[in-house]
Amino acid sequence: STPAAIAAGLSAGARRGLLMKGGAVLETLGKINAVAFDKTGTLTSGKPLVTDVVAGARTEGEVLSLAAALETGSSHPLALAILNRAKADGVSIPPASSARAIPGEGVEGTVGGAQVFLGSPQAVARRVGLSASQDAAIAGLNAEGKTVSVVVADGQAAGFLAMRDEARPDAAAGLARLKAMGVRAIMLTGDNRRTAEAVANGLGVEVRAELLPQDKQRIVREFQAEDLVVAKVGDGINDAPALAAADIGIAMGGGADVALETADAAVLHGRVQDIPDMIVLSRGVMGNIR
Ligand code: ADP
Ligand code: MG
Repeated sequence: STPAAIAAGLSAGARRGLLMKGGAVLETLGKINAVAFDKTGTLTSGKPLVTDVVAGARTEGEVLSLAAALETGSSHPLALAILNRAKADGVSIPPASSARAIPGEGVEGTVGGAQVFLGSPQAVARRVGLSASQDAAIAGLNAEGKTVSVVVADGQAAGFLAMRDEARPDAAAGLARLKAMGVRAIMLTGDNRRTAEAVANGLGVEVRAELLPQDKQRIVREFQAEDLVVAKVGDGINDAPALAAADIGIAMGGGADVALETADAAVLHGRVQDIPDMIVLSRGVMGNIR
């Protein structure tokens, strides 16, 4: 019978770490024909490493110190990379006051009396100007697939940090499988366009970059307006609006609490292949229903 088949599908999924919040979710998953993926922590490992620290108005050590101060207590994937590098280099991490995350842009607060912002070059460009040589250096790092975050202290570019976040080992294969299943896949990211394109080209996936959380939500709605049934997969750090707008919001392994609350489904093992697996499972169950 129908409810029994659905219940069996839900528990078969749960045994494999594919959690679906009820029969209606499974039913919609069986109809998904577009999947929008977040980049950081979803198509990539979300465990970036700092590769370069570049001095500007402040020394390299100060750049790292200010960045680490702001990231203490942050749940963004880039935060851990910066804190690890600060510890490895033995730089002091001063306390930050009134630190707050600006989703899709960065983090800001007060460190040692200075007003400090740490975030994407495009977010920085909305606040202060970067020199032509800084712009060129950042573009070069981006072309290598590295993400750059700039430190601004008291209205001046203090310097910047480049980080590399490797693609998940099964990302290219998982994306290729979705395509073979007739499911359109796209990567949505707040990261810089050049970095995003370097990563997307390696994975063979369509990409939209330099997006704020509300832009990700708008793109999900554009797909729906084209009659696509859309799943949005993300770690939830700044995905909540797009996860909520999608027909199905899927939280990827160890996502932030906000994602698990907003999500309709979750994949606990954090594999890209879990997404086609979940769709195949749901299609199979729904196909069995008369
Ligand atoms: P994604 O869409 O890949 O998850 P985000 O929207 O979280 O990326 O972030 C977009 C960009 O903003 C990052 O590439 C980074 O440059 C900057 N950024 C956001 N949050 C932080 C943070 N806590 N620390 C440093 N940089 C940040
Ligand atoms: Mg994110």
